[in-house]
Amino acid sequence: MAAIFLASAIGAILMTRVNGGIALLWPATAIAAALLIRLPTVRWVSAGVLLLGACLAANLFIAHRDWPISIELSCVNVAEIAMMAGVFRSLARFPYPNISIGQAAIMVAGFGIAIPGLVALAAGAALYECDGAPLLASALQWWGSHAIGACLLGPPIILFSVKSLRRLASTKFLAQNIAGLVMVLLGCWIAILYVRFPFVVISVLLMIAAFRVGGFGASVLGLCSGLEIATLLAFGVRPLGLENSSGGVSLVGLPIIALLATTLPPIAVGLGTDAQRAAVRRLNLSEHRYRESMEHSPLGMLIADLNGVWGYTNIALQTMLGFSAAEFRDLPPGGPSEPEEWITSATRWQRLLSGEITNYDIERRFRHKNGHWVWTHVAVSLVRDEEGKPLHLVAQIESLEARRRAEENLAEERERLRITLVSIDEAVITTDAQTRITYLNSSAENMLGLNMNAVRGRPVNEVIYLMDPQTSKAAANLIAQCAIHGEVIRRPNACILHRSDGSFTFVADVVSPVLSNGAVTGMVMVLRDVSGDISAAQELKHRASHDPMTGLANRFEFQRRLTDLFKRANYLDEPAALLAIDLDRFKAVNDTGGHAAGDSVLRAVAEVLRITVRQSDIVARLGGDEFAVLLPKCPEARSMVLAQKILTALNPLQVEWNGATYSTGASIGLTMLTPQFDAATNWLAAADSACYLAKKEGRGQLWTEKGAESVPARAAMLLSIRKI
Ligand code: GH3
Ligand code: MG
Repeated sequence: MAAIFLASAIGAILMTRVNGGIALLWPATAIAAALLIRLPTVRWVSAGVLLLGACLAANLFIAHRDWPISIELSCVNVAEIAMMAGVFRSLARFPYPNISIGQAAIMVAGFGIAIPGLVALAAGAALYECDGAPLLASALQWWGSHAIGACLLGPPIILFSVKSLRRLASTKFLAQNIAGLVMVLLGCWIAILYVRFPFVVISVLLMIAAFRVGGFGASVLGLCSGLEIATLLAFGVRPLGLENSSGGVSLVGLPIIALLATTLPPIAVGLGTDAQRAAVRRLNLSEHRYRESMEHSPLGMLIADLNGVWGYTNIALQTMLGFSAAEFRDLPPGGPSEPEEWITSATRWQRLLSGEITNYDIERRFRHKNGHWVWTHVAVSLVRDEEGKPLHLVAQIESLEARRRAEENLAEERERLRITLVSIDEAVITTDAQTRITYLNSSAENMLGLNMNAVRGRPVNEVIYLMDPQTSKAAANLIAQCAIHGEVIRRPNACILHRSDGSFTFVADVVSPVLSNGAVTGMVMVLRDVSGDISAAQELKHRASHDPMTGLANRFEFQRRLTDLFKRANYLDEPAALLAIDLDRFKAVNDTGGHAAGDSVLRAVAEVLRITVRQSDIVARLGGDEFAVLLPKCPEARSMVLAQKILTALNPLQVEWNGATYSTGASIGLTMLTPQFDAATNWLAAADSACYLAKKEGRGQLWTEKGAESVPARAAMLLSIRKI
């Protein structure tokens, strides 16, 4: 920058050698200030120092001034540059180079006139003090020359951009622009030579050119013509009335005001042209965007004239109704619809046109090119010009077909779900996320004995009370678990549902979350009545362990209980007895009365046994006419008493069946549990053996054994059996 400053300073000084001409550093100051405005502020300090040096050098060595005046003028110069840069960079932060005409006017006022004027006072004072030059004349000379410098050299630098330079130098415009420049320069020369008011002609020429070349181009043309005028003037080619009084090369008498009035307005015109071009570009872009968004909108869009003819239709509308844009234009007003529908629509258009309403929307149908009707939702608004005069109508048309289909599908789906919920036996209870009941199906109403309206909105745990049958306490709260974990929770075992009327039933329950975007928005609880399953299971279990005819435990169950008792009694050292009972000559009953009579006798025997023994004793029918009784926690004496009671009750046992009486007896073998038995089966075998002996020794008897543990062999064991 210092080099540019020095070079321009030298050029100007050489052109201004004659005293009384223009101030010396006018172009250098303007160039430096304009460049500084565009430069990053970090370089300002170094630039300031270099400028001060260049300024001093120019004053001392080129202008051959003394040291004191050189220093003073250099300081004034640098201060002027600093003010210009400071004001137009820090205070007025214009968007250089794209400044508006208003901003350009401010720049002319400040950069071109006010600041040079202010600084001119200081410069005039310095010159007066050092050279004794008249203060006012020096100040005016400084002001004029710096103003012309700022207004000629400032604009091209301020308005410079690579884009605008490229535009001027583009192959498309370069030849025209050079021709324009030549014409302007030629015009200037001719005007100065031959025209009475040359600056008016030059200004007109520059303005015409400015329309083409814009702000930057106009500033370059202004600079070129200004330099041309100054050069011509310096070499004595001057307009009439501005003759060179000094003789030789001199800028004395440069018509500064005329020059400013000639070069500045074309720049304003150029900036105006630029602004207009930019506005047109923006408008085109926005219109293009608007067109594109209309054209490719997923909604059908149309622009109709005030008669209702569809002048513009977008792709979506053409696809929706099957007509091309040209076919739409040829349709009668209102598009493809019935005439009467257009009439009802037209009344609304009239209300729009009259300003009664600003827009409206309706659901109406249009006929597709194929002939079928398409239901749509139409929103219409009116576009007016700046004066409020109606221009055209804009309508957005949304097909309702997809929505209608979706609604129908949804309704169908809902109905299917409703019927499913009504038909299934499972109770379905839905809740919201706060576990408040929102719905009960009819099975749930029946199962709970409640009406949906009565419980809607109540917390589900207030309405449904489930009890764990194992613990008789409240069952685990699946609803709460489901709400927390957001996953399906199934109870492993059935639990008891207590109804409000006090009755209960067994239910199996499962709770599923209703998820929306990962969040639990509600829950569905399904209760299945499993009372039937449970009683069936109990029945099966009973059947597997009981004799169907007598209802007594069967052999399988008896053996299981025998083994249990054997283990427990041995372990706890509890006394226990086992009775083996076989009916005597039972076959005879079958033979005389038939099998049914025999069965009746067997049932009677079972009844006798049941009522004779204690509640805790186990009576079983082992098969045929064989019975057994297990007496837990029963000492020998008590066992003997019970066995004796049975013996008495069964000998004889008279049973009436079909008008005939049948008599039977029984032989009983009793064995106390003793340590000699190493297995339950041995204990039973011993009782069987005692019974066998009782039978063998005459029937109708009770046999028992003593001290069998020490007798290993069966025969030896039987020796100790004695007759009661
Ligand atoms: P004993 O005095 O030696 O015991 O001879 P008994 O006639 O009682 O005959 P036994 O104990 O040897 O045989 C049992 C009989 O019981 C054989 C069979 O005909 C009869 N029986 C077995 N099961 C049933 C049944 O379910 N119903 C009927 N009515 N009779 C049965
Ligand atoms: Mg028998």
